Amino acid sequence: MIDPGQPALQQNIYSNTMKMKRFVNHIIGKIRRFYLIQFKKDYIQSQLKLRRGECRQCARCCSLAFRCPLLTSENLCLTYMKGRPDVCKLFVIDQRDIDDVAAAGGQCGYWFEEVK
Ligand code: SF4
Repeated sequence: MIDPGQPALQQNIYSNTMKMKRFVNHIIGKIRRFYLIQFKKDYIQSQLKLRRGECRQCARCCSLAFRCPLLTSENLCLTYMKGRPDVCKLFVIDQRDIDDVAAAGGQCGYWFEEVK
């Protein structure tokens, strides 16, 4: 947390560092999901069987790292029924994706059943 007694410059550096860290984490998440979808289809299938809940259509996952250009000002997807990419259709793949949404201030409607 930011100490209110810190000088403004230190607070700015801290704030910008945290923003950069979140941005990098979101980019890594995008690359990870792309990789999993392309090369780890068995993992995707097993994760989908464990996935519970439902999409709340909050569009938070459409703005990780950057806002999707296909998102309208009302947060609606212009291509939702016309062939969204698999990275969109299959989100969330695992707990790391839910954590990414949380790091961006959202609360995904999905969760994963624990494997016993
Ligand atoms: S963050 Fe989760 S609940 Fe929100 S739109 Fe994406 S998949 Fe749906």
